[in-house]
Amino acid sequence: MTEKPILQEKQPPISDVVISGAGLVGGLLALVLDRYGFKVTLIDQRDWFDETAVSDGRASAIAEDCWCCLELLGLTSSLGSQQITGMRIGEAVVDHEETDFALNFDANAEVLLGHMVENERLMTALNQALKKTSQVQFLPKNRILSFRKTGSVVDCELATGENLTTRLLASAEGRGSVLRGLAGIKTQSTDYDQAGLVCTVSHEFAHEGLAYQWFLPNGSFAVLPLPGNATHPHLSSIVWSEKRELAKVMMELDETEFTTQMQRRFGNRLGKLKLQGKRWSFPLAAGIADCFAKDRFVLVGDAAHHVHPLAGQGLNLGIRDVAALAEVLVEARRLGLDFGDDLSLDNYQRRRRFDSALTLGLMDGLNRVFSTSAGPARMLTSVGLPSVNRLDSLKAFLIEKASGKSVNQPRLLQGLEI
Ligand SMILES: Cc1cc2nc3c(=O)[nH]c(=O)nc-3n(C[C@H](O)[C@H](O)[C@H](O)COP(=O)(O)OP(=O)(O)OC[C@H]3O[C@@H](n4cnc5c(N)ncnc54)[C@H](O)[C@@H]3O)c2cc1C
Repeated sequence: MTEKPILQEKQPPISDVVISGAGLVGGLLALVLDRYGFKVTLIDQRDWFDETAVSDGRASAIAEDCWCCLELLGLTSSLGSQQITGMRIGEAVVDHEETDFALNFDANAEVLLGHMVENERLMTALNQALKKTSQVQFLPKNRILSFRKTGSVVDCELATGENLTTRLLASAEGRGSVLRGLAGIKTQSTDYDQAGLVCTVSHEFAHEGLAYQWFLPNGSFAVLPLPGNATHPHLSSIVWSEKRELAKVMMELDETEFTTQMQRRFGNRLGKLKLQGKRWSFPLAAGIADCFAKDRFVLVGDAAHHVHPLAGQGLNLGIRDVAALAEVLVEARRLGLDFGDDLSLDNYQRRRRFDSALTLGLMDGLNRVFSTSAGPARMLTSVGLPSVNRLDSLKAFLIEKASGKSVNQPRLLQGLEI
């Protein structure tokens, strides 16, 4: 396969969109905009060219609307995904008795609960699609040092000394976005003093597509179904939120003791758990940018918002950002308008900031109320979860979040071309 050319001097000087950050969200935005004829430059500080991405241990629950978008882009066939057939949610303590779950969701023809995908496989599919099908210009091992809006363009100075000019600059740099800071956009954020411990386990019994989540006093403990393989027919991904100090101790345990600790939190529903491969630890926080766009600069994905992973919503929010931004830009250009101006960007912000703030608030609330050992809140939990099961409207709202169905969705999230 021939390498895509690195930006050279003879190249036309103005990109339509420069994207800083080639993670899942930045890569997806590049692929989508390229599909609709935008001239895109994609920059990452990492040497991320490898078609086979490196694992970060995580697997993501992709909601149905986002899945439709990935399917339309031809990314799903090689993923080896696992459909989620149901969710079982409850509150418990370490070494709990085998009690029933307080909240049960089951997928049916109308309610689809999404798909589990290993991030590494999604990133690989994305990198391959970018290399095979797009005209995107890649700038690995690079970053933007400074940028300035001048009339209807943005001038960017790169770490390697070159300059880039673009009509729109997008940051998909994740939650520590440097460009967001350079643009003077502040974030409201909360540090949870928790870490998300992530690993893959094999187990004795089949998961049958069920996703489990216990709310324990120190944080949520999720066991999420993965497709099995010839050696390990029953595999799941663990996302274990734990107090940061204790998480450090857990990371240092040997495999046997670490597995014992997982088993004490999850119980025996799937039989004996066995750690497969490495463990990872992610510091957990939540935050949202005060504004998502201004002066030909726009935020997408974790650079705009990051949420507690307890309901697997972060990447889904990012995919919805991509779908909304692409729709706004494509429609503006079709109408002969300046797609990078305030009108387009305000439109994007209106469509995405409220949904992101709502999701952040919901995840934050669930984490605070359910993951506590404090008496009154714990009492509220045991009263709260069973009643959620009976409250049809609240349950419907939670299902809507999991399945991603809502009115006025961007066309890509309905599996339709823009
Ligand atoms: C434990 C855990 C479990 C999760 N599970 C789920 C789930 O089940 N479902 C779900 O929807 N979400 C989940 N999430 C959230 C999801 O992983 C994130 O929301 C998503 O990965 C964010 O992607 P991103 O592309 O916006 O940012 P990132 O993945 O952070 O990518 C940012 C990219 O920008 C690059 N970069 C950074 N700074 C610069 C710079 N200055 N210049 C150039 N490049 C730069 C980085 O190298 C990187 O490639 C989970 C998160 C955690 C921590």
